[in-house]
Amino acid sequence: MLMKGKKGVILGVANHRSIAWGIFESLRNQGADITLTYMNDRMKDGVEKLFKKFDINDVELLECDVTNQETIDSTFKALGEKHGEIDFVVHCLAFADKSELEGEFYNTSREGYAMAGEVSSFSLVAISKAAQPYLSESASIVSLTYLGSERICTNYNVMGVAKAGLECSTRYLANDLGPQGVRVNSISAGPVNTLAARGIAGFTKMLTIQEKISPLRRVNTIDEIGDAAMFLCSDLSRGITSEVIHVDCGFSNVGVGPMEAYNL
Ligand code: NAD
Repeated sequence: MLMKGKKGVILGVANHRSIAWGIFESLRNQGADITLTYMNDRMKDGVEKLFKKFDINDVELLECDVTNQETIDSTFKALGEKHGEIDFVVHCLAFADKSELEGEFYNTSREGYAMAGEVSSFSLVAISKAAQPYLSESASIVSLTYLGSERICTNYNVMGVAKAGLECSTRYLANDLGPQGVRVNSISAGPVNTLAARGIAGFTKMLTIQEKISPLRRVNTIDEIGDAAMFLCSDLSRGITSEVIHVDCGFSNVGVGPMEAYNL
């Protein structure tokens, strides 16, 4: 039980396909006391259905829309009042309008750029600030990113820029919070078929490409991303901070993959 006695929050569960759900299960299996947040009533319904399905009745649900500072503040105030100290915060959310996730990047709209940046990147800064007064001495903050921040990934467009901001924020936050013992890391996950991912044009081809050319020749599952997040939340990773760890079956290290994968 690596997480026994540890209390924290996961932001971003929508349904059973969500990466946040995989993280929830991994942390719960290791004994963590978890609060989940949902964005709005529609998302709340989905999470409540999951609780019913899996007979879960001891997990608190709080509303947190990261575009609304009041709900961020109330979430962490409630957590602080309930637990005193928080040991982990998992940021597992992002948003860009579907229209921004296809075609030429130079067509990105001013509003679309701002929205993707606010929800997917700035929110990590905002929640870290709100969490800071309550973080325990060995607390861990983990977020989710994607290779589109480091490499050209066709159609990922403005979300790649937002994820680059998220990864850079991870390093600056790690530097700010390191002196109080708090670690901040990000997981760069391979493509997973979720609600958010389906907004990216040609997403299912991204799955096929990883399957064909990654060293492990398969796509990732949410439980293995969950286990990596659990590791980063646990004391096993106590010497790791400011890192972006790839959980992508090795895909990010491929230059030229197996020749038979290319129809040349
Ligand atoms: P998902 O659709 O299951 O989860 C996305 C969540 O973001 C949803 O719960 C949604 O309600 C939440 N959200 C959107 N706007 C919000 C707001 N304003 N306030 C609060 N919550 C908001 O999709 P997912 O793929 O599990 O996404 C989780 C994280 O993983 C994201 O950061 C995503 O970029 C990242 N990621 C996904 C993949 C992938 O291929 N699915 C790969 C790498 C990284």
